[in-house]
Amino acid sequence: MRWHPSTAMVARHGAMPLAETQWVQAYIGLGANLGDAAAAVRAAVESIANLPGTLAQSKSPLYRSAPVDAGGPDYVNAVMGVRTILSASELLAQLQRIEQGAGRERPYVNAPRTLDLDLLLFGDQAISTPTLTVPHPRMRERAFVLVPLADIAPWLVQAQELHAVANQRLTPIGA
Ligand code: AMP
Repeated sequence: MRWHPSTAMVARHGAMPLAETQWVQAYIGLGANLGDAAAAVRAAVESIANLPGTLAQSKSPLYRSAPVDAGGPDYVNAVMGVRTILSASELLAQLQRIEQGAGRERPYVNAPRTLDLDLLLFGDQAISTPTLTVPHPRMRERAFVLVPLADIAPWLVQAQELHAVANQRLTPIGA
């Protein structure tokens, strides 16, 4: 896995000189609850780390969580931090491509899914379009987002937010 800048990768991505490139710190929530969910999350981490113009920086441990507003088996969740020169909409499109590659089907709202990737934060930007809302509107209500986010970026999560979701079942299951 490539966790450090690759000049060749950055140079390939566009004509903009490296010094003028705008890198944005983004956080991505990963979840899966069908098949080998932990394997699906780990594979998605690799796919995200290999996205063009994107550098993987941090990955939380994996957690097992009870489904929220959804049926089916427990979820496996994690949060990843990346730096990217993609726009938010480009990054979302790449995440949706990875979801589709994982065989995600969407027969109904909140159906169990092979892989669900959410763009949680994109720098300090607030984005509201028909297809993208950032910060992710429900991220601060969910232990399976807040706890792994606090693992890798504790300055982004307040103690009272963690306290408010402490009743949600969440079990660390390793790397
Ligand atoms: P979901 O079923 O939770 O994966 O929702 C996917 C839909 O949510 C897609 O149509 C996206 O365009 C939309 N969406 C809006 N904001 C976000 C976000 N921050 N991250 C991921 N999907 C988003």
